[in-house]
Parts: sequence; structure tokens; C-alpha cells
Amino acid sequence: MADRYSIHSDRYWLKNAHVPVALLVNPDPRIAGSQTREGLVCLDVEVQFGKITQLRVAAKNRGETGSESAPAYDLQRGMLFPCFVDMHTHLDKGQVWERSPNTYSTFEDALNLINADSEKYWDAEDLYRRIEFGLKCSYAHGTKAIRTHLDLFGKQAEISLEVFQTLRREWADRITLQFASLIPLDYAMTPAAERLADRVAEIGGIIGGFALMNPEIDQQLDRLFTLAKARGLDLDLHTDESGDPSEMTLRHVALAALRHEFTGQIVCGHCCSLAAQAIEDVITTLDLVKQANIGIVSLPMC
Ligand SMILES: [Zn+2]
Repeated sequence: MADRYSIHSDRYWLKNAHVPVALLVNPDPRIAGSQTREGLVCLDVEVQFGKITQLRVAAKNRGETGSESAPAYDLQRGMLFPCFVDMHTHLDKGQVWERSPNTYSTFEDALNLINADSEKYWDAEDLYRRIEFGLKCSYAHGTKAIRTHLDLFGKQAEISLEVFQTLRREWADRITLQFASLIPLDYAMTPAAERLADRVAEIGGIIGGFALMNPEIDQQLDRLFTLAKARGLDLDLHTDESGDPSEMTLRHVALAALRHEFTGQIVCGHCCSLAAQAIEDVITTLDLVKQANIGIVSLPMC
């Protein structure tokens, strides 16, 4: 067996890899039939020029020695997965614990601390260092694509977008990087939001915001949808990041999408309060979410 940490050949085998059978498209009956009760199959995987070209039940399981002309790396029944897609991150908020610890671990403290941290520290150098570290960690753990939300209100917008663009360029061969703007929805009502939407469109981003229940939520969403539609932008919103059953911003987003006949992609993240609502409320909201073709990233509170 070759050194597992240095692959220099255009063709090689990954031996004894445990793969969830659910990840295989139309697996060979011999492979599907060999699965464990946990739904894993132990495979030898041939890779040529960076692409999987052959899957076989592991030679050890077939009772063969499995001698091959290409180098082979024994994964010793370690798990083999496709690269990860991290749909919802906040790379601009990472790696701040040492200087701004949320020792009470409450949501409110998290927001207050990060706002104070951003005012004090978030220049280009600080953001670059922290976001780059986040990308390095993601890459080391097998992540291939990341969507990050970026706080983009006020003067922070230009600083963060410059750093984001630099890192997106520098990492383009390893990680596909997307960003969505994160603004309070009342900010969408200001002229600054128009300029931000132009900038998001220019750089190839997604427009988004943090939705909170308030008497103007429908007007705020109308404005956000209008900004997105006029520029052909997709949407990604933070909704119902709360255990309060009266929070129903997800439903308001779905209704806005239907009202605007929005054809772009919409993703809503968090959606925690669904867990605290009466089942009839949940079903009504989810029916609308389905009609509006909204993708969900379920997340706990931050
Ligand atoms: Zn978030």
C-alpha cells in the first residue's frame, strides 16, 4: 500500500472505503447487496484524473488479495463522502471568541458582542485573516462550496466585499464561494439598500436579510423582493431564529414570493420557531413554502 498522505499518480485505488449506499446512484446489485445494516458498503474505488471511474466491493470482502497495477491507499474502513457543501455560514463572524467571548451564551449577548466586535475590529486585515482561516478549516475538512452571509450595512459593506472578492479569487480552484448580504429588513427601506443591491448584483452575490416580526414586515419584504427582481438576484433570508411561536416571518416570506411571482431561488435559514408552533400553523406555513418553492436550511439559534 502507498503512503496514504501523498497521492502523486493520475490513477489510483482507494481501498476499503466505507460508503453510505444512499450516496450511490443505481449501485451494482453486488454492491447494494453487500451493505451492512447501517447502510454502508465497503468498496475499492478507482480514481483516474481526479474522477471516480470504478467501484467494486472491497477485495478483502470478495476474498481476493486485490493486487492492482496502480497505487492503492488503504482507508481501513474509514468513511468516504462527496465533498461537503456548507450552505449557511458567517465567515465574517468567525474566530472572535478569544477577544469577544459570549460567556452567557445567549442569543442577545451574541448579537451585542458581535456588533461591538465589528465596530472595534473589522478592518480589511482582520476580516481577511479570520475569513481565510475559516476557509482553510473548511477545506481541510473536505468542504467544496460555501455560502457565507456577510454583514453589509453602512460603511462595513465596502470593506467586507473587497476582502470577500479577494478571497473568492484566491480560493477559486479549491472552494466555490458565494455570499449573501445580511441586513436588518428595515434597512431595505433606505436608499442605501438600493446601492447595496446594485453592488451585490455587480459582484455576483445573493441578496438577503434578517427578518423580524414587526408591523412593516410585508412592506419590507416587498421592497426586498422588488430590489432582487429588478436585478435578477436570488434571495437568502434569516427567518424565525427564535423559540417564540408567534414568529412567522417564514410564512410572510412565502406569501411575498407568491405575491411577487418570484422566479429566482429563495433560501430561508434557521426556521426555529416552527418547532414551537401548533401543528396547524406549521402545516399552513409549509404548504406556502412548498408553493413558493423555497429551500430551507434548518439551523439552531446562533
Ligand atoms: Zn445565520
